[in-house]
Amino acid sequence: MSARVGFIGLGKMGQPMASNLARKGFPLLVFDVDSAAIARLVEAGARPASGAGDVGAHSDIVITMLPDSASVEQVILGDTGVLEHLAPGSLIMDMSTVDPLLTDRLAAAARDRGCVFVDAPVGRLASHAERGESLFMVGAADFAFARVKPLLDAMGTTIHHCGEAGAGIRTKLVNNYLAIVSCAFNAEALALSQRFGLSLEKTLAVIHGTTATNGQLKIAWASKVLKGDIEPGFTIDLAHKDLNLIVEAARAGGVPVPIAEVARRSFSAAREEGFGGKDFSAMVDALCDRAHITRPRLTND
Ligand code: NAD
Repeated sequence: MSARVGFIGLGKMGQPMASNLARKGFPLLVFDVDSAAIARLVEAGARPASGAGDVGAHSDIVITMLPDSASVEQVILGDTGVLEHLAPGSLIMDMSTVDPLLTDRLAAAARDRGCVFVDAPVGRLASHAERGESLFMVGAADFAFARVKPLLDAMGTTIHHCGEAGAGIRTKLVNNYLAIVSCAFNAEALALSQRFGLSLEKTLAVIHGTTATNGQLKIAWASKVLKGDIEPGFTIDLAHKDLNLIVEAARAGGVPVPIAEVARRSFSAAREEGFGGKDFSAMVDALCDRAHITRPRLTND
């Protein structure tokens, strides 16, 4: 008999991820505080649950894909939460981006109840999740990784087993440090290029021919802000949330991260200027607007 799977958190990422599981035949019980989100999954073949505890009581594996540390803590450790109702031997896989110290507490709490914990945060965007092309960074004991691997295969194409529980979320923060901070410095470089009145095409051709190039600029920005598309993608609000996690985790580990702190200030400023819901490549638009510089746009395909 295949494992009974529960899924909590059916937002921009959770919705397509859970839909892929339902479509590929996993028996799925779902919950979200938004009943419309549950209804969409029921249409895709899942069964509705009445709360997090209900999911815990009737699942062998519970997946959480929630916005932040507070919601994950409440859903898993709360009085009417998952762990309270989970049978020994069951497994929780948190896929949200959260504080690694919370991940450690969740792993310990699961162990205390005779359950298993896996952290498997997600790389790439909601558009990849819709196509079943997500990347996962997994922290799990070997036997637990083997248990969740069929589920991850159904939701993504690239799976990295990074180490024991806690290694997935820490890898995610390292990855997001680079992805997010590079948006802040790309914004400054392109604002400067615009102020100098340089040809954007020519400037990019030079950058991409030297070690100055980077993935955000070359891959992501080319199809987002530089084409005039600043709809998310990954929002400036979420990037700011992740920078908070990165700065706090670095502080807890005694690692100075002054560049991340400055980038966090840049993202805060962009949020105050109304860009919070825009794609994180729009950091350059926020900066150009502030300095009264024309936003950079590619003119030809
Ligand atoms: P989202 O806000 O779109 O979805 C979160 C869902 O959780 C919502 O449907 C909300 O109603 C539900 N929810 C909130 N509190 C709840 C509770 N207590 N009980 C049950 N349901 C609850 O967020 P998202 O974009 O899907 O992101 C989820 C996580 O994935 C975040 O940690 C985010 O940082 C991370 N992430 C997002 C992206 C992205 O591109 N959006 C990419 C990688 C990772």
